[in-house]
Amino acid sequence: TKVLLTGGSGFIAAHILDQLLSKGHTVVTTVRSEDKAARIRAAYPEQSASGALTVAIVSDIAQPNAFDEVVAAHSDVEVVLHTASPFHFKFKDPQKELISPAVNGTTGILSAITRFAPSVRRVVITSSFAAIIDEAKVTDPSHTFTEVSWNPVTLADIHNSPATAYRASKTLAEKAAWDFVNSGEGKGKFDLVTINPPMVFGPLAKAQYVSSPEAVNTSNERIVDLVKGRWKTNGTPATGAAIIWVDVRDVARAHVKAGLELGEEVSGKRLFVVSGEFSNAEIARVVKKRFPEFEGVVPDEEGLKTGEIPPEDKRFRWDNSATRRLLGFEWIGLEESIVDAVESIKAL
Ligand code: NDP
Repeated sequence: TKVLLTGGSGFIAAHILDQLLSKGHTVVTTVRSEDKAARIRAAYPEQSASGALTVAIVSDIAQPNAFDEVVAAHSDVEVVLHTASPFHFKFKDPQKELISPAVNGTTGILSAITRFAPSVRRVVITSSFAAIIDEAKVTDPSHTFTEVSWNPVTLADIHNSPATAYRASKTLAEKAAWDFVNSGEGKGKFDLVTINPPMVFGPLAKAQYVSSPEAVNTSNERIVDLVKGRWKTNGTPATGAAIIWVDVRDVARAHVKAGLELGEEVSGKRLFVVSGEFSNAEIARVVKKRFPEFEGVVPDEEGLKTGEIPPEDKRFRWDNSATRRLLGFEWIGLEESIVDAVESIKAL
């Protein structure tokens, strides 16, 4: 199958790319710059030579029509996986740096497909738990988040905090996608599935270039901070509102399965891909148990108290049984995910 994967340089996308190529699919992936393209080609010399892998440049997904050229050049793609979207908190202007690329990138790829690639039958978009969560309910034990929950955040909230701005970018982008296929330009042209992961941990895939541990993707940053001794020095950070997680390889697997392997049963669905709950204290305990060389940088039990999971009566409930049924796979556990993430970070 010929697949278009946006944002191929990303943490999650690099795993999707690896899984697609190892299953023998033909992949066109987009990145922002020629140096990133060259690194991905170098990681897959055989597939680049055979034409199984094409890396194209789309420099700014916030621009209208950003994807037109690549989609028109590959009008025979059958499946599109759209992962590219900013995930960091280093912005000054949330509208310009987060909302525009997230929303315009999403509507831009969908619009390009309707105009240039009539053979696309399914589009999978990487959304997030950020589009499910409701900040007012995270400490409410009587509230259960599921596949049908929606974050009520609006554009008016984007200056509240960096986390809120990021959550708004994912919520507004996902809403725009559903509007596009349910009532907009894309009605009846292809079907849509979204993948909504919470915090994603795990190893870096071979095509993801990261220059130093400090440049690791946002969701693995806390593991870098831990192994660099920052928790020991500054205290174990609170786990935060998002106390659920999933391994990057399972997130990638969900994209591949939803895009290429499952049928009607997933069309129009949001897949809430969650392995389980975690806390920063638990991550630290895994590192201490499995990496004797880091024992000295892991805070002692007293020092881990600030990073425990909030008590039962101060945390939300979640239920992703519908997604588990649809995907039907075993989920990677926290210990394996953290150990593999630490191994990758050590290699940097
Ligand atoms: P990365 O930061 O590694 O990947 C983000 C990808 O989007 C990169 O390919 C990046 O390109 C691209 N991108 C970001 N901003 C722009 C822009 N303005 N123009 C063009 N491309 C851009 O993070 P992840 O792999 O974790 O994120 C991938 C997707 O998964 C995102 O949609 C994110 O919202 C979502 N997600 C991630 C979660 C997590 O915990 N990791 C949880 C839930 C959802 P470049 O490499 O050039 O920066």
